[in-house]
Amino acid sequence: MLYSLPQPNEPKSIDTLITMMKAYVPPTFDLELVRFAYEYAAEAHKGQTRKSGEPYIVHPLAAAHIVASMRIDPTLVIATLLHDVPEDTSVTLDDIEKTFGSEIMHLVQGITKLGKLKYRGVERYIENLRKMFVAMAEDIRVMIIKFADRIHNLQTLDSLPESKRYRVALESLEIYAPIANRLGMGEMKGELEDLAFRYVYPEEFTRVKNIQEKRLSGKEAEFAAIEERVQKELTNAGVKFLEMYGRKKRLYSFYTKMQRKQGETTNIHDLIAFRIIVPSIGDCYAALGVLHKLWKPVKGRIKDYISQPKPNGYKSLHTSVFLEGGDTVEFQIRTPEMHEEAEYGIAAHWHYDEKGAMIPKKELQWVKELAEIQKDLLKQLSDLEQIKVNFLQDRIFVFTPKGDVIDLPEGATPIDFAYHIHSDIGNKCTGATVNDKLVGLESELKNGDVVEIIVDKNRKGPNPDWINMVKTQTARAHIREHQKSRLSNWIKAVLPGKK
Ligand code: MN
Repeated sequence: MLYSLPQPNEPKSIDTLITMMKAYVPPTFDLELVRFAYEYAAEAHKGQTRKSGEPYIVHPLAAAHIVASMRIDPTLVIATLLHDVPEDTSVTLDDIEKTFGSEIMHLVQGITKLGKLKYRGVERYIENLRKMFVAMAEDIRVMIIKFADRIHNLQTLDSLPESKRYRVALESLEIYAPIANRLGMGEMKGELEDLAFRYVYPEEFTRVKNIQEKRLSGKEAEFAAIEERVQKELTNAGVKFLEMYGRKKRLYSFYTKMQRKQGETTNIHDLIAFRIIVPSIGDCYAALGVLHKLWKPVKGRIKDYISQPKPNGYKSLHTSVFLEGGDTVEFQIRTPEMHEEAEYGIAAHWHYDEKGAMIPKKELQWVKELAEIQKDLLKQLSDLEQIKVNFLQDRIFVFTPKGDVIDLPEGATPIDFAYHIHSDIGNKCTGATVNDKLVGLESELKNGDVVEIIVDKNRKGPNPDWINMVKTQTARAHIREHQKSRLSNWIKAVLPGKK
């Protein structure tokens, strides 16, 4: 039952995906359909490569492995394999509908719409968020695919240029992780946060990781002894248990906790937790009693989320106890049902449990919660603006009309922007619009501006005066180079006999 997401270094093929799915999909479902979807997507993406140089199909295949690792309905795995097809290839949504039916087409359509939402300044972002909520309200399953897509993109973020890395990571941390949290998808939320953490706050990430490694190193034998002892005591006390394991806590949540506590020394209970899975609620409380008889509980750290679940529905008993050596460790006690809810949240509705049964669809609580999620996120947007100000004091981020982020120094002009895109765009640039308004080429760009360059194909080259209007080295170099070549052409023209 110990669940972990497939890692990028694990070899993946359509066969490993099908093997994974055989373990939970009912035998009445023909898994050859999954193979067919894979071949269909591979054919559509044929010749395309990712920024890393790998064939493009590697990405939807990896995302599909993430979805299947959560034992999710094969319909969603198929839609995940196809999720980038209409966006990036000549195959249309109509083609997908004809081949795979309307349900899969609608899922792919939802994810295609979400893909168009890119960060373009705060106002537009709010606008985009509204669209995201609409897509979520139409079919919440789209978010499961989106999270898997985002997790694989974060796992392979190193192959993107730095400014894009930052944008993707920040979006994941500030927008996607909170949504995953509100949908009760603990595992995906934790994964999104930890993957994004290292790009958004690289120094803090390294610091926290070092603390974790230092505090936990050499403790393996001690942890194994704890497990053995607890299992023995539970058996002696007649408490049934299904499984027990130790699990490192997530780095990002540890980091935010450290910030809240400000410098207080960290204890093991902040870094690792032992999970005990027992058959019933009665067994949960009985197991808690056994632990407290064995070790003294830490005051204020006994939490009964069974009688008082967290707002996102999370249920478990938590306690921290003093070990003989003075360390404190945390235990989390729950039933298999609580465990599945905690890991999968809303996704549990499309997830097969250990017995191969789909959890019956409950009252769709999330519809009621959407308004609340929206409120949370709008608050986070104002924090996002704050982060941007702190991080980018002498850099600005501006956007292409397609939503790509361009990172420029403060005071940069449309000419810098044009040369950043391509030297040809710079050389042939005659004007620019900023946020759909025509502006002079000397005007300073501001954070969040959407910039479009107007080019004149017949233009011979840059105006020498531009040299005083630019801030970037790239633009300066291109303008000088062009002046030099013009000069040498002129010399060649006036010196007879020389070519
Ligand atoms: Mn994708």
